[in-house]
Amino acid sequence: MKRIEKYTIGMGDRFAHQGRAQLRAVTQACELGIAIHPVWNKSNREHTIIHSQPGDLRAEADEAVQALGWKRPYYVDADHIGLKTVDAFVDTADFFTLDVADFVGKPSTDRARFQAFLAPWGREVAVPGLERPLALEGAGLERACDKFLRAMAEAGAIYRHILSRKGGESFVTEVSVDETDAPQTPDELFLILAMLAMEGVPAQTIAPKFTGRFNKGVDYVGDVSQFEKEFDEDLAVVAFAIREFGLPDSLKLSVHSGSDKFSIYPIIRKLIKKHGCGLHVKTAGTTWLEEVIGLAESGGEGLQIAGDIYAGAHARFEELTGPYSTVIDIDPARLPSVSDVRGWSAEEYAQALRHDAACPGYNPHFRQLIHVGFKVAAEMGARFTDALDAHAEAVGANVTHNLLERHIKPIFG
Ligand SMILES: [Zn+2]
Repeated sequence: MKRIEKYTIGMGDRFAHQGRAQLRAVTQACELGIAIHPVWNKSNREHTIIHSQPGDLRAEADEAVQALGWKRPYYVDADHIGLKTVDAFVDTADFFTLDVADFVGKPSTDRARFQAFLAPWGREVAVPGLERPLALEGAGLERACDKFLRAMAEAGAIYRHILSRKGGESFVTEVSVDETDAPQTPDELFLILAMLAMEGVPAQTIAPKFTGRFNKGVDYVGDVSQFEKEFDEDLAVVAFAIREFGLPDSLKLSVHSGSDKFSIYPIIRKLIKKHGCGLHVKTAGTTWLEEVIGLAESGGEGLQIAGDIYAGAHARFEELTGPYSTVIDIDPARLPSVSDVRGWSAEEYAQALRHDAACPGYNPHFRQLIHVGFKVAAEMGARFTDALDAHAEAVGANVTHNLLERHIKPIFG
């Protein structure tokens, strides 16, 4: 097992042009005394849309590390992979996010084995930090077995497959169940971690689906006090699982769709300090949005491209938003017309897109549509990536500022 550091930030970079700008945010954080380590993440789904290869992300990460003289550990995350997709990532990734959401709710034959595994803890267990004991029998356990036993067996199968290809010292294992319909309660997280321990999966990060909506690129939507209570309990459950189940002591929560959740960052920050525990936060699309902001601000052809991206995304609304229906909330009535956007100045465009809720021009509906519109930019090919090169400085400054000031400092600082 490759042991992961306490604080890590996942950074997705759809078009592979911002590796240096992203790493700059991390190095500046370190200079401020925030001991954070970078993880570059890209899912198989994203590679497919952009037509990139897993090795491209490794090359980007290595190049950025070389260019900035980064001397500490860093990781390349095969994000949201399964048995069918993992092989292409085995050689170049050293962090694997085993996505077993598709196996949630599938029948399992492991129930008796799991009950035997839990037997040493008796009928109920008191987890320090939780108000009530957790029942290890009865309806709650049955439900959790129905939902998660098969999925965690799948995590075991994927883990062992990677292990057989790579060897044990060379990678970090994350297990994700965030792309499911229902959030997992702290009680369910407890049983999920027990199942992973039974399967012998040395998970170091676990990505549950938290309560509330984690929409792409916009703020948290939900009951903030409920989130606080459950996040606090999740951290208590993780600490218990490390002690009692023998999971790695580096095990920590991973927050997916973690960018731009500004209203819960103070809570997350407070709770990880309270528990003295680690945290992984994944971001991806927020960097792509900063690229569009940087291009728009550059005016001329950059602003033209930004307008074309919106026009393309607007025309293909159903196609682009469909796959993301559970993680976006766009009110079409609140989208600006294409002709309005064509008439915007560089500043008006940037203000509508930039995630600054205090700015009257900010439009979260516009922002979410651009978020899923990266396919339009991908189809522009060199026209888009040449513009990123031509305006590298303006774009990179936005990328660095966004990661450092809006994300790393409020969460880990
Ligand atoms: Zn995820």
